[in-house]
Amino acid sequence: MSIEGNIEHIKETIPSNVVLVAVSKTKPNEMVMEAYNAGQRDFGENYVQELVDKQELLPKDIRWHFIGHLQSNKVKYIAPFVYLIHGVDSFSLLKEINKQGQKNNRVIDCLLQIFVAQEETKFGLDFKEATDILNSEEFKALKNISVKGFMSMASNTDDQEQIKTEFASLKKFSLQYPDYKILSFGMSGDYEIAIEQGSTMIRVGSSIFGERNYDSK
Ligand SMILES: *Cc1c(COP(=O)(O)O)cnc(C)c1O
Repeated sequence: MSIEGNIEHIKETIPSNVVLVAVSKTKPNEMVMEAYNAGQRDFGENYVQELVDKQELLPKDIRWHFIGHLQSNKVKYIAPFVYLIHGVDSFSLLKEINKQGQKNNRVIDCLLQIFVAQEETKFGLDFKEATDILNSEEFKALKNISVKGFMSMASNTDDQEQIKTEFASLKKFSLQYPDYKILSFGMSGDYEIAIEQGSTMIRVGSSIFGERNYDSK
């Protein structure tokens, strides 16, 4: 199927209140434009340099989501334009985003990345670390960031019950923070389960653009 067909197919199967972020990492600008011409405006990228390059050349009404692991020393490159930073996994990163927000005279929207998977390799805060940040006075004093919700990745497994349990635990945690409405979870392989479990934003790459080839990166 075409990129346009894939997007239409996904949009037909998800509720209208769920935001579809098209994950275009490693994919060329021509493919982003195909999705754009099909009406897609939210795009997700994992690598700072790639995001900066694409942002320069592609239409300015694209909402760029940074979904990868962000290093503090690179925040400055995306701070002028990034729409939503999904993977905030430390207080020091949050402080750096705040500092760059200040420099750019804007408030940068963020999601805290929460670790729910059983694997050791995934980044993220545990529930206690996230709670400690959100309840701290130092956090409340940051004026150039706005936490909008939480982001998470499930274990990379075929065990649907486990994925469901992991997503459900994030949803349950989020209920303590009703003001933080965005729940970013669900990818190509598990977005249906994610939506059942309360996701409001899915990040879909390969089901739109095809498999990624990392050799060229
Ligand atoms: C690559 C990536 C995705 C998209 O993955 P697909 O399986 O291709 O849909 C979603 N979220 C994050 C954080 C990613 O790194």
